[in-house]
Amino acid sequence: MTLFASVLLVEDEPNLAKTLRLALKKLGIPTTHVTTLKHAEEHIRTSPPELVLLDRGLPDGDGIDLCTQLRAEGFDGCILILTAAGDLEQRVEGLNQGADDYLPKPFSWSELEARIRALSRRHVTYAKRPASSAPVFVPPAPELWTLDAQRLRVQGPRGWAELTPLEFKLASRLIGAGGAILTRDELLKDVWGFQLLPKTRTVDHFLGRLRKRFERNPEAPEHFLTVRGAGYRFTL
Ligand code: CA
Repeated sequence: MTLFASVLLVEDEPNLAKTLRLALKKLGIPTTHVTTLKHAEEHIRTSPPELVLLDRGLPDGDGIDLCTQLRAEGFDGCILILTAAGDLEQRVEGLNQGADDYLPKPFSWSELEARIRALSRRHVTYAKRPASSAPVFVPPAPELWTLDAQRLRVQGPRGWAELTPLEFKLASRLIGAGGAILTRDELLKDVWGFQLLPKTRTVDHFLGRLRKRFERNPEAPEHFLTVRGAGYRFTL
């Protein structure tokens, strides 16, 4: 199976970086390595990678700030945070800031490899689907829109879709609202846990991801709807 076509490794610890580069090379994933947020940002602007492996403690700041900024700017590659800051609160913070996954150090290579493979499966199914592929029509069934929190998946009209933790949280919040309109601010508070509300395209970005996963035609959504000037709502 195809793994990511490009990875940016942002890690300032030389030995760990070396080990990871070798391991990624063995998987056949072309990797660019930088050691600072500044260089990461420059690289992402010129050639956005499909996956960013992002350390938090970097010489010029906290990787999580780059994560927040990238999501606010609409970066839609995967972000996997690797860090010593592995306690629950910081893990939740990482996911709230738009990371797709979070791996506390020290970790084994086999664990990281498993996470990369899992992310790449999700990434491939929504990002790499050829535009011309015929949408699969499955008649509505009662088990539609079943949420499987254990495996972070939702059954939509095109079958089960595996989601990232934040995608799952957003989908469950919208599906669980029973058709009510939720405002952008409500979603930023409930799903992302923001207290102070940033000016951000995060909600639209994630809505776009859900549409790619679930809508027969993501350009003309039937389920995950934007209600102009009001917010968002889900319809069966
Ligand atoms: Ca570090």
